[in-house]
Amino acid sequence: MMHSAVPAVDFDGALVRKLSQSGPRYTSYPTADRFAASFGYSDYLKAVARVRMRGGTRPLSLYVHVPFCEKLCYYCACNKIITKKREKADEYLGYLKREIELQGKLFEGLNEIEQLHFGGGTPTYFSDAQMDELMAHLRRCFRFAADDRGEYSIEIDPRTVSPERVHSLRAQGFNRISLGVQDFDADVQKAVNRIQPESETRAVITAARAADFRSVSIDLIYGLPLQTLETMAVTLDKVIDANPDRIAVYHYAHLPRLFKAQRRINEADMPDSESKLQMLSLCIERLTAAGYVYIGMDHFAKPEDDLAVAQRQGRLHRNFQGYSTHAEADLVSCGVSAISSVGGSYSQNVKTLDEYYDAIDRNELPVVRGVRLTLDDTLRRAIIQMLMCHFELSMNAIEQDFPITFRSYFAQELDKLAEMERDGLLAIDGEWITVTGKGRLLIRNICMVFDRYLGQPQAGEQVVRFSRTV
Ligand code: SF4
Repeated sequence: MMHSAVPAVDFDGALVRKLSQSGPRYTSYPTADRFAASFGYSDYLKAVARVRMRGGTRPLSLYVHVPFCEKLCYYCACNKIITKKREKADEYLGYLKREIELQGKLFEGLNEIEQLHFGGGTPTYFSDAQMDELMAHLRRCFRFAADDRGEYSIEIDPRTVSPERVHSLRAQGFNRISLGVQDFDADVQKAVNRIQPESETRAVITAARAADFRSVSIDLIYGLPLQTLETMAVTLDKVIDANPDRIAVYHYAHLPRLFKAQRRINEADMPDSESKLQMLSLCIERLTAAGYVYIGMDHFAKPEDDLAVAQRQGRLHRNFQGYSTHAEADLVSCGVSAISSVGGSYSQNVKTLDEYYDAIDRNELPVVRGVRLTLDDTLRRAIIQMLMCHFELSMNAIEQDFPITFRSYFAQELDKLAEMERDGLLAIDGEWITVTGKGRLLIRNICMVFDRYLGQPQAGEQVVRFSRTV
């Protein structure tokens, strides 16, 4: 249910400066740092059993993680393995196929896959032939919805993909493509060790259009070394000229103590926080002027793109792959470190290749930690998702779906929201919490109010370090 047209985003530098803080991106709730090591393979099997008991009414979504990259980008914060030894991909593919087979058996007879996403690392580290083999294997183990009903996407590194390869990917079943660009400026590219000529990127986009990909997306990053307002303006002009359907603009979180790769970045080249804010403001201004709609949390899309349409119709959701039009799906994830969301649980795979291979050699799924959601988790997840996707929340609708009285259950949260209302981030009336244009950039702060775990000591070994909210 929607009650208001989604307001345009309104950049208020003073407010962002005052309120920006570290916070989760809420691709899941509870966030991954709350997953417990006590949750293992047998708990995952119970979660699948719950899906079976429901009769498999939800569609399925599939994520495949390919951890390899040829070269290290210095800004990288992903779980990846840098290697030029192609035989490693062969060995990985063998184990991945066995994991997919195990998962396929668990979900046999249940719903079709409506969403597939390949992420990494670099998914196209697999050769064309390896990808053929993998996609054929996936089709043997799962049933896929027809091309016009399914969202089948892959992350591409244009440095490693030829126009011919783009056509192969389409023939293999992908219908959405997302390209890592980050910045078109040659000096910035050098400073982050990712040299990627504009011509290569343009060639991939042209090929994707010719091959009839339904959506082409470009990823950018602001806050990289040597970026200035001027370089950013040039990059944005080039991106707009390339005319992608979606654009993601991520904030670079420089956390060299946490991510070893980032220690190679020269600190003296880093833009200060004031310049970064101006860059963000420029991105919003240029992209909205070019006709893109601000979807939320770093994402822009053309008004006719599925994401923007789904948002207007109140059907937008958010999961580990970011915004999606297919959210009520159970997500089955394969590969090292991949996170599944099945039957009211989250579960994550082991992070190293050795552990991954060992588990599969035992014929077990390599689940290493996770969490079964309580009713309170499910409630808060629904609220956070609603706010992230639609920037408004009907308290009555929540009361219809959950056995609570909103104003008493969330009395403390509403007090905190009242402060935010005074700051102009949102408005609260008898039924609705509505995020204003100014509040949209600070949506993570608003969602954090509903996160019961923030500030609580953690059970696991991980220390949470979230990036800043803007
Ligand atoms: S940023 Fe992406 S391509 Fe670069 S090293 Fe990290 S995972 Fe690989």
